[in-house]
Amino acid sequence: MSFSLALTPAQRALVERTHAFAEDVVRPVAGRYDRDQEFPWAVLETAAQQGFYSPLFYRDLIGDPTGLSLPLFMEELFWGCAGIGLAIVMPALALSSIGQAATPEQMLRWAPECFGEPGNIKLAALCISEPEGGSDVRNLRTTATRDGDDWVIDGHKMWIGNGGIANVHVVNATVDPDLGHRGQALFVVPGDADGIELVRKLDKLGCRASHTAELKFHRVRVPSDHLLGGDDKLQRRMRKAREVQEQVAEGAPRRRSATLGTFEQTRPMVAAQALGIARAAIEYATEYANRREAFGGPIIDNQGISFPLAHLATEIDAARLLTWRASWMAAAGVEFRHGEGSMAKLAASEVAVKATERALQTMGGWGYISDHPVEKWYRDAKLYTISRAPARFSRWSSAERSGPPTVAHRCISSSRPRAAYSIGRSAAERGCGPGQANSRCRRKTASPNQPNAWR
Ligand SMILES: Cc1cc2nc3c(=O)[nH]c(=O)nc-3n(C[C@H](O)[C@H](O)[C@H](O)COP(=O)(O)OP(=O)(O)OC[C@H]3O[C@@H](n4cnc5c(N)ncnc54)[C@H](O)[C@@H]3O)c2cc1C
Repeated sequence: MSFSLALTPAQRALVERTHAFAEDVVRPVAGRYDRDQEFPWAVLETAAQQGFYSPLFYRDLIGDPTGLSLPLFMEELFWGCAGIGLAIVMPALALSSIGQAATPEQMLRWAPECFGEPGNIKLAALCISEPEGGSDVRNLRTTATRDGDDWVIDGHKMWIGNGGIANVHVVNATVDPDLGHRGQALFVVPGDADGIELVRKLDKLGCRASHTAELKFHRVRVPSDHLLGGDDKLQRRMRKAREVQEQVAEGAPRRRSATLGTFEQTRPMVAAQALGIARAAIEYATEYANRREAFGGPIIDNQGISFPLAHLATEIDAARLLTWRASWMAAAGVEFRHGEGSMAKLAASEVAVKATERALQTMGGWGYISDHPVEKWYRDAKLYTISRAPARFSRWSSAERSGPPTVAHRCISSSRPRAAYSIGRSAAERGCGPGQANSRCRRKTASPNQPNAWR
């Protein structure tokens, strides 16, 4: 599929439908949920009724061979409110990891449990980060130990969206610490399992409608079939990792982390969320600057007001083009050779922070108080330079894969992604119809057991 900026009728309809939901359902209640830091159950219910909260919805988005449906949806939803947006898309992050690692049977079993249905909303969480290791996924300390037919999970997780209130927790745990990230596996831990402790709901700067928590797993016991991908696959992967380790010990170059490579694929989705916030802020500030009069005319007539807004509108469009390019590449199975996913994430997260700051500045004192939503967007936007690899890491990743060596390039590993990632081929291309989660439908990655969804 060649890259095109022309949206299809289906994509235009998706944008209109999502925008209407964001404007009519999300925006009117965004301030209240943010202020009260309350989980937006009622909005999730409406999202489910309107078809935005189900595994089949995401199957269709991912099935778009142009790759654009997913970022289009994200941008419009997050234009409404990033906190509520996160609450709505969080199960999709967990589902994405399940999709990477699970057997077809596991996918069929757990996907419906991540969302529930209208009238019976369920939640899912992806539990990767730990107090000692957010960016550095190689050093996660949560362990999974085999005990008879069960796995026993012990550990401490931090900043977990839907943590402790989810029906399904997808937990990354170390099985063999000597193998680093290659000795890790994903486990499904049901929300009612004995030993999960919701230590606290975190009090956040922004995105406050979403639930983010600190969790502990105290000897949480799950049956062996809760290991995603199954035991044989895990053993095969670890055997291979030991061989690689021996080769490295004998002088072979160290391979790049497949986890980081896989994260690269999902960064455009996070970028699109940041774009939604940025666009909301610039639209609002421009409208305000046209109405607000000072010294005898609308403040937009001052170049000091209008030029920065015009500049930011340009930067937002540029970040969107990077985002769409990366999404298209992922869908078309084009290898990310130059950190294209990281470039999108870097550009979009930074422009979101700049745009919300400029919007606030444009509105002066009115921007600084909660009568208007810009102070909230300013707080929400900052998450995006932190989550899914801080912006500095995105900059590294971009530098790592850029053509001529740079200082950054020389400072980091010279290793390269070892394989073309083939995720993102459409369900149609793979010959999968609705509900057919068979092995041909599952995405292929360099390391399918590695989580890909947050960071
Ligand atoms: C609201 C929110 C929701 C989240 N939701 C989830 C979730 O649902 N699931 C989940 O698993 N995680 C989640 N996270 C965690 C998030 O992915 C991590 O916070 C993120 O990966 C950064 O990790 P960290 O906070 O440990 O920062 P660190 O890795 O400790 O980094 C701290 C700072 O040091 C810098 N730094 C670190 N190492 C280096 C280095 N080698 N060189 C230069 N600079 C460096 C970083 O750029 C950063 O600025 C969430 C976080 C937040 C804030």
